[in-house]
Amino acid sequence: MTYILAIDQGTTSSRAILFDANMQRVGTAQHEFTQHFPQEGWVEHDAEEIWDSVLRVCREVMEAVGVTPDQIAGIGITNQRETTVVWDRNTGKPIHKAIVWQDRRTAEICARYKQAGCEDDVTAQTGLLLDPYFSGTKVKWLLDTVPGARERAEAGELMFGTIDSFLIWRLTEGRSHATDATNAARTLLFDIHKGEWSAEICDLLDVPMNMLPEVHDCASDFGETTLFGGNIPILGVAGDQQAATIGQACFQPGMMKSTYGTGCFALLNTGDAPVASKNRLLTTIAYQLDGKRTYALEGSIFVAGAAVQWLRDALQIIETAPESGELAQQADPNQHVVLVPAFTGLGAPYWKPDCRGAVFGLTRNSGRAEFAKATLESIAYQTRDLWHAMQGDWGADTDVTLRVDGGASASDWAMQGLSDYLGAEVDRPVMQETTALGAAWLAGMRAGIYPDQQGFSETWALDRRFKPELSAGERDAAYDRWKRAVSAAMAF
Ligand code: ADP
Repeated sequence: MTYILAIDQGTTSSRAILFDANMQRVGTAQHEFTQHFPQEGWVEHDAEEIWDSVLRVCREVMEAVGVTPDQIAGIGITNQRETTVVWDRNTGKPIHKAIVWQDRRTAEICARYKQAGCEDDVTAQTGLLLDPYFSGTKVKWLLDTVPGARERAEAGELMFGTIDSFLIWRLTEGRSHATDATNAARTLLFDIHKGEWSAEICDLLDVPMNMLPEVHDCASDFGETTLFGGNIPILGVAGDQQAATIGQACFQPGMMKSTYGTGCFALLNTGDAPVASKNRLLTTIAYQLDGKRTYALEGSIFVAGAAVQWLRDALQIIETAPESGELAQQADPNQHVVLVPAFTGLGAPYWKPDCRGAVFGLTRNSGRAEFAKATLESIAYQTRDLWHAMQGDWGADTDVTLRVDGGASASDWAMQGLSDYLGAEVDRPVMQETTALGAAWLAGMRAGIYPDQQGFSETWALDRRFKPELSAGERDAAYDRWKRAVSAAMAF
């Protein structure tokens, strides 16, 4: 039997998943690692701890399933995106903790560049915004702050990489410094039109280009590891949201996936032409295969499933996440309570880092059920914001198919609400592990044991299709309430 090992290096945990030759999952190992919050708005990970957790889960899953390295045809890596590591070329040691995508410490650096009028040019090349979310200003901060770092970088002693690059470097014991086009596209240093690092932006952000990894297709030869006792090639790499897009087989223009985990990330495949957003969405690379780039519009929402955790942990009105749907079912249909879950600011399309959450429309009868309903509805309203922005950029008359995944997509109530408020069908697949599957497919396809794009698309299977049940009038009235609530929250 032949297997593919997928490494899913996420924001809170590392997982290793073994898939067999039929793309069936046969084993999983998972470990959480420490989140460091040295200051308000700062989030760090220890790259050494991440590395240890990755080694551990790989060894555990191979042992649990009873698989030896010679049975593994390839490794696929998918990872938390944008998180930034700088390490020493000779010792392999990081010079500082990794700065995580959520970290806001470079807000001031971004504001300075914006004031200097640089944003339009940066957006034109990278498809991104001058926001602390992306890697570029995080690298600048590290080189400017860690004593001696800038001199060492200029002397060619330091390397930069997102988590995928760091893992490839460690797995290949320093033989390969590589990344894939989807991860490169999130650094703020990569020209997504030319498919190469931008000398101009590297110069603007003072990042020496000798630090940067080599950029590959998502399915490519990234190097070999011998750390598990035999030779295993690394054959697939994609950032987590792009891997989910691939895992959902959104290979045609007009296909969109929306992942409901802690936050919500929606990607719409726009084909081989990058679409510049007029509505504050990001333009990004969905995947690059055989040297050909496919682009996407992306909308990122910071709080989706996390609002359900807020019901559970902060308000304590539910004990488990699935109870949110049962409770919402019991809500009084005549009350219109609206929750704006801007707990950590608002992402796309508002990009208001300083906005905070709010609840509107409370009466004396508003209770647990109304809060649960408002929370699940906020997931749908936020998606509708993205949906509108995407239609504005992409053309409202084009058909869009929406495929959902992630923990909160398990809620039938939330997914029915999503369909109702979008006025569109929502498809939930049988296979929910789309991120790991996407990485595994890239590696397995490269290894020649998995089907091609067309064949893989045909394996996608529907669990349930949600169809809109609300009238257009009800839908628009509800969305109008949401828009007013967001304006009021921003005003506060
Ligand atoms: P992540 O990868 O970001 O940790 P997951 O995809 O594992 O997220 O999803 C976990 C999130 O989904 C949690 O925030 C949780 O509150 C939410 N969630 C899980 N099950 C349900 C459910 N049945 N109803 C509503 N929310 C849910």
